[in-house]
Amino acid sequence: MARIVMKFGGTSVANLERIRRVADLVAAEVANGNEVAVVVSAMSGETNRLVGFVDALDADRVNGHNQSMGGPIEDEYDAIVSSGEQVTSGLLAIALRRRGVKARSWLGWQIPLRTDMAHSSARIESIEDTKMNEAFSEGKVAVVAGFQGISDDGRISTLGRGGSDTSAVALAVALKADRCDIYTDVDGIYTTDPRIVPEARRLNRIAFEEMLELASLGAKVLQVRSVELAMNNNLPIRVLTSFAKDGADNPGTLVCHEDETMEERIVSGVAYSRDEAQITILQLEDTPGMVAKVCKTMSDANVIVDMIVQSISRSDNAANLTFTVGKRDLEKAVTALEAAKSDIGFEGLKSDSNVTKVSIVGIGMRSHTGVAQTMFEALAERGINVEVIATSEIKISVLINAEYTELAVRALHSAFELEVG
Ligand code: ADP
Ligand code: ASP
Ligand code: MG
Repeated sequence: MARIVMKFGGTSVANLERIRRVADLVAAEVANGNEVAVVVSAMSGETNRLVGFVDALDADRVNGHNQSMGGPIEDEYDAIVSSGEQVTSGLLAIALRRRGVKARSWLGWQIPLRTDMAHSSARIESIEDTKMNEAFSEGKVAVVAGFQGISDDGRISTLGRGGSDTSAVALAVALKADRCDIYTDVDGIYTTDPRIVPEARRLNRIAFEEMLELASLGAKVLQVRSVELAMNNNLPIRVLTSFAKDGADNPGTLVCHEDETMEERIVSGVAYSRDEAQITILQLEDTPGMVAKVCKTMSDANVIVDMIVQSISRSDNAANLTFTVGKRDLEKAVTALEAAKSDIGFEGLKSDSNVTKVSIVGIGMRSHTGVAQTMFEALAERGINVEVIATSEIKISVLINAEYTELAVRALHSAFELEVG
């Protein structure tokens, strides 16, 4: 007998037909004698629909009030957007009962799954296992609403978009599960997003470190925190499809610690993120401490700065500084810089949100040379201009004009021969 956590994403529970299918998959694991906890997402599109309601009311300007006057709304955002998971957990519990499988739904607060107070992007602090273990000993499947918990102030919290992955991994860790299976609409982790490169290839295994980079750099197939948590607790995750035909082979991808075979690959994957925006500060005085001043202005405004490059400008003793921030933060960042203009000392600002970050990732890069050259040649051959570069031991990221996103991803995928196994 094994203890298994099975997680089903939005497309896997998109309608009643899909929920029936999920119930069959869960029932099969129970029939094999396993203890099963299931984590579900909201039906696909549902969380976006709920976020739309919040945004619409949040944008109201009644009687001259502006958003900041009424105070933050993240606590209510959580109360609203967490509701999609409540529906699917209940529906799946019913579908399981009708298949003769004992089951009940669990909301975050009922477990309880405790989080900090960072509403809308809360971090899990603890998961009580007593009631879950009781359910197991009664032979009941626990159907857990993903994405949600209870914060220290006794309110519902959510874990950030895509957070059900993190709910599943955290539950698997807390319950000391033997396996954590993440079911989605693709049959594993691919060398790049199969939606934009049809030649992308499923990987049998991928190292935690690589998956962490791919997820942070835009591959939304797993939430970044879920990978972090799995890596820190040495819990391998299997990513597989809930759309496989009965009896069909469904090996998926195992996300686990690296082994020798993985190191043979120089590059494992290509990721892209359209969530970036670029800011250039023109004619910044080129003296020690200037970049620190800019970074402090950004951190005081709660803006995370990602890629940075400094270039000499036309006049002596001045430099241009280009960096990227999240697209959502662009307005906030520009306002903060304008306000600090005289303190920092610069001539002007340029910003551009029509940019994409494209990255190659691979643990094999640690021990191979010429990777950057191959990357830049592949981009240059297609006439793609690189605005900013950032590197680490196992990744190279470039910022390019958004119009070239797909061309760049395809070019890099083929330059590193990722379509061949
Ligand atoms: P779920 O609703 O099951 O959580 P997501 O939409 O969050 O599913 O994640 C699955 C999607 O991630 C896929 O449909 C695919 O388009 C996208 N994706 C991006 N990069 C990759 C990759 N490298 N491998 C697999 N899927 C990827
Ligand atoms: N339903 C939430 C979202 O769409 C959480 C998840 O699907 O993982 O972000
Ligand atoms: Mg997801």
